[in-house]
Amino acid sequence: MIDLPVKVKKYGGTSVGSVESIRSVAQDLASEHQQGIQQLVVVSAMAKATDQLLDMALQITPRPRARELDMLLTTGEQVSIALLTMAVHELGINAIALTGAQCGILTDGNFSRARIQNIATDKIYKFLEEGNIVIVAGFQGITSDQEITTLGRGGSDTTATALAAALKSPVCEIYTDVDGVFTASPRIVSDARLLEFIGYDEMLEFAASGSHVLHPRCVEIASKYDIPLEVRSSFHHRPGTTVVREELLEKVAITGVTGDAEIARIALMQVKDIPGVAARISKSLADANVHIQLIIQGIRHDQTNDFSLIISQEDAQHSQDILQRVSQEVKAQEIQVDTHVARVSVIGSGVASNPGVAARMFQALADNEINIQLISSSEIRIACIIQEDQLDSAIRALHEAFDLSNLERKTISTA
Ligand code: ASP
Ligand code: MG
Repeated sequence: MIDLPVKVKKYGGTSVGSVESIRSVAQDLASEHQQGIQQLVVVSAMAKATDQLLDMALQITPRPRARELDMLLTTGEQVSIALLTMAVHELGINAIALTGAQCGILTDGNFSRARIQNIATDKIYKFLEEGNIVIVAGFQGITSDQEITTLGRGGSDTTATALAAALKSPVCEIYTDVDGVFTASPRIVSDARLLEFIGYDEMLEFAASGSHVLHPRCVEIASKYDIPLEVRSSFHHRPGTTVVREELLEKVAITGVTGDAEIARIALMQVKDIPGVAARISKSLADANVHIQLIIQGIRHDQTNDFSLIISQEDAQHSQDILQRVSQEVKAQEIQVDTHVARVSVIGSGVASNPGVAARMFQALADNEINIQLISSSEIRIACIIQEDQLDSAIRALHEAFDLSNLERKTISTA
């Protein structure tokens, strides 16, 4: 067994998007290798490769079977690990490319959204001991009966964190095309601030509510095994954002604002007010694998209820078809579907302990003539469903209202 800690790094698609970028990643790996650092590197498919593969499949059939789709999509990562490994060899350093299966990443059998169950580390340690940089294909694994699976879009982050957990790495570095996690998307808010630190729970909310920086499952694993994640750019060497336990951070009310326009709202109007209706509606969608992001039941005065559901935009058509059938059973008077809605959320570990947050949020939206259609809140987030074309102005207004361009987020020890 090697006794040095193994550094786990993950490079996203744009970081290995061209032969040039692959060479530059190889240089970075080489320079750390020369300092005696053991590295395990997880790589995504080259930029757009996964989308192109998916697009070809969809040209052949609108409903590719999940098993073959996974077989297809995993080839993207196989290309990038092979090329990156060759680039490292060119620098005179030993490296070995491993697919998820070769690396011993065992998953369950849910194609296209498999969960990692176990990672056999012996082979990894053997290659590291022999002086290799180990380069692993992200986003994929294998079942106990040798079926190739993928972990869901963006799943390479999860591969990296799961490996960091298995190898008990002190940190998992996620290299990407942005500088880190910001108080809001810098594309929308020009003075958005790079967060030096963020808590796991907050980061999970960021990931789940529209910031595409990290795969939510990766944050769950990091939090469970207490592995700090460092999100940073592969294009320069400045520090990015470190994701750690909330308890290590100074309290602030709000850490950031996120927006998600890829949602749809379905309303079932005047549904009979009797037991079992909510169960029937939810089950019909769950059976079709549709994830309900938010469900709100409101009371009317005529012994009926209105149900509003928020789902992802790509599930809208499918869900409408299903609910159309269910609506007869639950005697809904009408179904409304609106895909031109968006969710704006304010996130922070201090939401629950600062009673003024909601009022400040709603006031800022009102001052900008933004109508709120639905509201939901949790301990660390308040989310409003609004009209999609007002999303950017809502994000700017909230960033300003919570003065996030001046936010300082420090660890308790450095305070
Ligand atoms: N290549 C996969 C995707 O585009 C996985 C990843 O990049 O994390 O979703
Ligand atoms: Mg990604």
